Amino acid sequence: MSETRTPIKSLSLEEIEVRLRAAGEPAYRGKQVTDWIYGKRVNAFDGMSNLPAALRKTLGEEFVFDRLEPIRVLGSEDTTRKYLFRLADGALIESVLIPASPALYGEASDRRTLCISTQVGCAYGCKFCASGLDGWSRNLGAGEIVDQILRVEEHSGERISNIVFMGMGEPLANFAHLLKAITIINAPWGIGLGARHITISTSGLAPQIKQLADQPLQLRLAISLHGARDEVRDRIMPVNRKYPIEVLLEACAYYTQRKKQWLTFEYILIDGVNDSPEDASALVRVARKVKAKVNCIPYNKVEGLEWERPSEARQDAFMAVLEAARIPATIRREKGHDIAAACGQLRRQSLPDSEKIPLQGAAAQDT
Ligand code: SAH
Ligand code: SF4
Repeated sequence: MSETRTPIKSLSLEEIEVRLRAAGEPAYRGKQVTDWIYGKRVNAFDGMSNLPAALRKTLGEEFVFDRLEPIRVLGSEDTTRKYLFRLADGALIESVLIPASPALYGEASDRRTLCISTQVGCAYGCKFCASGLDGWSRNLGAGEIVDQILRVEEHSGERISNIVFMGMGEPLANFAHLLKAITIINAPWGIGLGARHITISTSGLAPQIKQLADQPLQLRLAISLHGARDEVRDRIMPVNRKYPIEVLLEACAYYTQRKKQWLTFEYILIDGVNDSPEDASALVRVARKVKAKVNCIPYNKVEGLEWERPSEARQDAFMAVLEAARIPATIRREKGHDIAAACGQLRRQSLPDSEKIPLQGAAAQDT
């Protein structure tokens, strides 16, 4: 029989209150429930010990308390940790914990950043990225997005201070669930993380960028640009044929004006593809049109793909063009590529039960 109950972690406090009232309960019970989930962090309705037994039973009938199941944790030399989670339907996703990461998107430095997934696979098929290699299978629900944070905090014993939506999937293609998850992550009754500590990365869905600009939170936005000329971007990112650079920049300008905020252009340097001095000059022109700083990332090798990282000399020459034009730009020497946890290395995968690796707390870390 298929599940008809609503996942409790996909609902806002208000929605929980409405549902409880409809079940004949006083509205204040809603806040008690969210206190147990996000404050005291219980993992079952039965653990909500100050609620009457009859109410706990009602909760169990109305809602599911799904949890992501961590089935593997890999830790890298620089202590970046990659979590592989199994969802209720058996699909697998990954989240990456990056301790003490530098300030990349304007947030304070030396914090613990969690990179989370929004979809199983990705439909956008960028040519350089592992996440889209095997296509897309489904959107994550808001509760599945939120639970990545709860599970990693539970397992690591650490408090996450920044969230980046840079795991598997295109966040803006799962817009409603993304916004609901952010509401829960941001709310004082929820995880309580400030909007300025939340960064969304998109491959450039122009209409949704504008929609995001129109909602009130001061979320940070990063654009996966990777090419500043249409002929280059068309070749590596199919989304550019739908929303070419001109259209994308118009949406970006709308965002910076509405939010009074700078955004970040992410630019992977791929050898011989987008890393020439002419590409750098085109990037200068694009960055001048929008209030944007540039974050260059030397390409992380993906098994089975032909692309390579340019030599350091070539990377330096590219950066020199940006510097000479006084474009605020950094180059990111990435963490986690030894465990395939770096940007673009998260791949849709499946794991047969026979290969399930038991997780025994820190002992399971492959450090
Ligand atoms: N779909 C969204 C969110 C995923 S973010 C987006 O594309 O923005 C993942 C980031 O890693 C994106 O900037 C993506 O372009 C980048 N990326 C993909 N493959 C990469 C690779 N092999 N090396 C370095 N960065 C990569
Ligand atoms: Fe999808 Fe982003 Fe990877 Fe492109 S870069 S395939 S949009 S996850």
